[in-house]
Amino acid sequence: VRPLWRDDAPLKLGVSSCLLGENVRWDSGHKRAPFLTDQLSPYVEWVPVCPEVELGMGIPRETVQLVREGGEIRMLGTRSRRDWTDAMNEYAERRVRALQRLDLCGYVLKKDSPSCGMERVKLRDAKQVAKREAQGLFAAALVRAEPELPVEEEGRLQDPVLRENWIERIFAFRRLRSLFEGRFSLGRLVAFHTAHKLQLLAHSPAAYRELGRLVAGSKRAEPAELRRRYGSGFMQALAIRATRPRHVNVLEHCLGYFRDRLDSATRAALADQLRDYRSGVVPLVVPITLIRHYVERLEVQYLSHQTYLEPHPKELMLRNHV
Ligand code: SF4
Repeated sequence: VRPLWRDDAPLKLGVSSCLLGENVRWDSGHKRAPFLTDQLSPYVEWVPVCPEVELGMGIPRETVQLVREGGEIRMLGTRSRRDWTDAMNEYAERRVRALQRLDLCGYVLKKDSPSCGMERVKLRDAKQVAKREAQGLFAAALVRAEPELPVEEEGRLQDPVLRENWIERIFAFRRLRSLFEGRFSLGRLVAFHTAHKLQLLAHSPAAYRELGRLVAGSKRAEPAELRRRYGSGFMQALAIRATRPRHVNVLEHCLGYFRDRLDSATRAALADQLRDYRSGVVPLVVPITLIRHYVERLEVQYLSHQTYLEPHPKELMLRNHV
């Protein structure tokens, strides 16, 4: 039987080159992000992109700014006022099309950059008054072309909750891409949806039900359209932040599977752990580890297939901080 997804498929991530320690910045420096290069690298095939260097702006180079002129956003040299806008926009469209052929599972962008910044990039008016309200030109083209791609900025990845959510999404996107490779069948989609039930519930019970209705009502649907709609709904659901109360609901649901199979003292100990997690005394990894232990020991088939119990490699220790 063909597995639903391959966990050994390459996890290709686009990245602003300077974050990997490449000396491509305007001042010939870099902005190495140790979390990416040290912790995440073993799992990832990086696809580094420096839009400004690839466009031929050189190293070192004059810095650029985003400036509002009339109704448009222009990219101008800070001193020379050389206008890079059209060249950058054309390059970005072309480069993003080439990246789409690589089946990326995510992207990490450098914050604040007029090319790579995902949000809150400085936008100046004619009097050089800056407001943080723009997107870098390359980042804008990327997000426009690939709205479901899990894209984050390295600055936001310092936040443990945002980091865990983004990593969860890149691994989920790889499973989704892997499911959609080769021949599609509704049965495989149903099995995929079932395996992600608890993971989806931790993010959005409404989105889980909505996707369930889509799958159930799609016997005669055109496969490409079904894939598009399911894929988009699935990735949007996981982008909704999982909350502690929703995790508690999911964990309680898991405990229901042990009800008749554990003695009352063990069940009470599990309930204690859940209470401690609910009140923020222990992180998510504590109840999850216990549940995984009992799933294995008691051979609870249904739970053992749930991605919720290990949505990303435990060695990354992401659930120790949420
Ligand atoms: S932020 Fe983007 S454009 Fe600037 S150096 Fe890094 S990769 Fe290049």
